[in-house]
Amino acid sequence: MGKLLFVNLSTGEITEEKPDEKLYRDFVGGYGIGARILYSRQNAGVDPLGPDNIFGLITGPLTGSPAIGGARYQAVAKSPLTGGWGDANSGGDFGPYLKFAGYDGVFFTGISEKPVYLFIENGRAELKDASHLWGKDTYETEDTLRADHGKKSSVICIGPAGEKLALVACIITHKGDAAGRSGLGAVMGSKKLKALVAKGDKKVPIADMETANRLRTEQIADLKESGFLERFHFYGTGGHGDWSAHSGDTPVKNWGGIGVIDLPDVSGLHKDKVIATLDKRTGCWRCPAACKGILKAGTGEYKYPAGNHRLEYETIGAFGANCANTNVESIEMASHLCNSYGMDTISAGGIIAFAMECYENGIITKADTDGIELTWGNHRALVAMTEKMVKREGFGDILADGVMRATERIGKGAEEFSVHSGGQEMGMHDPKMENPMIPAGKGAIVMYKMDATPGRHTQDFGPHGFMNHLNNAMGTCMIIFLWPTARGPYVQRMINAVTGLDRSMDELLTAGERIANVRHVFTLREGINPLERFIHPRIIGRPPQKEGPLAGVSPDLEAHIYWNLGALDWDRVTTKPSRNKLLELGLDDLAEELWPPQETPQFDQPPWAK
Ligand code: SF4
Repeated sequence: MGKLLFVNLSTGEITEEKPDEKLYRDFVGGYGIGARILYSRQNAGVDPLGPDNIFGLITGPLTGSPAIGGARYQAVAKSPLTGGWGDANSGGDFGPYLKFAGYDGVFFTGISEKPVYLFIENGRAELKDASHLWGKDTYETEDTLRADHGKKSSVICIGPAGEKLALVACIITHKGDAAGRSGLGAVMGSKKLKALVAKGDKKVPIADMETANRLRTEQIADLKESGFLERFHFYGTGGHGDWSAHSGDTPVKNWGGIGVIDLPDVSGLHKDKVIATLDKRTGCWRCPAACKGILKAGTGEYKYPAGNHRLEYETIGAFGANCANTNVESIEMASHLCNSYGMDTISAGGIIAFAMECYENGIITKADTDGIELTWGNHRALVAMTEKMVKREGFGDILADGVMRATERIGKGAEEFSVHSGGQEMGMHDPKMENPMIPAGKGAIVMYKMDATPGRHTQDFGPHGFMNHLNNAMGTCMIIFLWPTARGPYVQRMINAVTGLDRSMDELLTAGERIANVRHVFTLREGINPLERFIHPRIIGRPPQKEGPLAGVSPDLEAHIYWNLGALDWDRVTTKPSRNKLLELGLDDLAEELWPPQETPQFDQPPWAK
């Protein structure tokens, strides 16, 4: 759309910028453009919950285009959870709608005096009072705003968890699609920014619509023939919770257990149980996979309302095997609580698992937990504590800022069970397992430690990650991207058809590399060297498990890091990208900042030279 919005929440000033084509060429979109803008306009060391932390929401060139899965937007800011670069990614339809409203992205600075939301319609933006929405959950917020602005609008918002600055708070759209990671819901809360509403009928310009549509048709045919679409449509991402719990894919009992031993019966997580109360299948904007689903109201022990989202794999893993829990309805209830209060389910499940292990080891007792018996697999306790956490009540208040902060607050040796990476709870794929469905594969071992947003599994570290950075910047879905023919040449042809540029694959991958460098240098500038970042030894198999599918697996993390740093041309001690690498990528300002010109050293003349 060629336009970005900048909103100062302290003054209420709204300005529009038309970046030159170079920004789009070099950084593509999404967190690529986000990283470039935050690096240039934000100082190091700002308070992540203060007025100077810039919070951005950005689409990619393929968002709102005929590209399959072109439904994503990304949120960016300095992460209050890790203190370094933070981003989160969501589907739904907000990304396309933001473009229909006329903008590629919106950036916020400052803090509003009272709760507000931003309404954007056909190239006009206005801050509106959100006092009546403050304290409301995400479901009610979305319903209220869509009633006010019409069904043809799209809403993203935070819930009470974000308002109360829970550092694992997230941003929700469609009552359950989450931009979950990095604690960016707390950044919105700190700015008193309750929501955004996007609406409009502007056309996303497509340079060569005929080719873009043909590529879409070809790709759908390929995905159908492979069975990929059908599988994801029918079961979503939650079709293998039982298998994953036993194969070594999903972590078990706070990453310390072994599925086949600690959780011998995983039939409760079978895919048919996950869709047992499914009402209808849905999906993100124009996605043929439509891998999402809406549940009927809970009629058993857990009375969640109709409209609760079908469980995603990550949520099943976090509240399921990782807590030794196989009761699907309780996971649905916990997911509903997280979605309606606006909390990341991955982090929330990881926190409950940590608390359960502390409880097992007597570090916390019923006296600490408001009488809740936090024993492994106790699904009632899991739901009760999740409710306390999203509301920041009682012991839930101790937990609501993530495992790292809870460890500090609890003390008494809780660090032994403090499974996180640099402050963020891990994604639900154990990187010790060679899993062909994870983009990172074993590279995840390095990524959980080294990536600018640690705790992810959807990216990769080193040159293998460039394609994933490109995908995220383009605004397309990582699930579709799992399918091999959705990567590589398809991406190149689609992005050229949409933008009208004639870019080689090398050029696009270089953009991915450029993005990787800026994200990383942003974190370095905050004083974080990932080599010094804490990562719980269980994640990397130290010591290795003695039994089960991962018995004896203890990857050589240091070797992975060593070779990847070399391949990136980043220093193997400081992890600073070399000056030459930064200049080669056109990141001259980063090169100057990281490698300021040195004065030629002056030495006393040796006696023999006098
Ligand atoms: S595959 Fe699923 S998550 Fe991805 S765009 Fe389609 S519906 Fe959304």
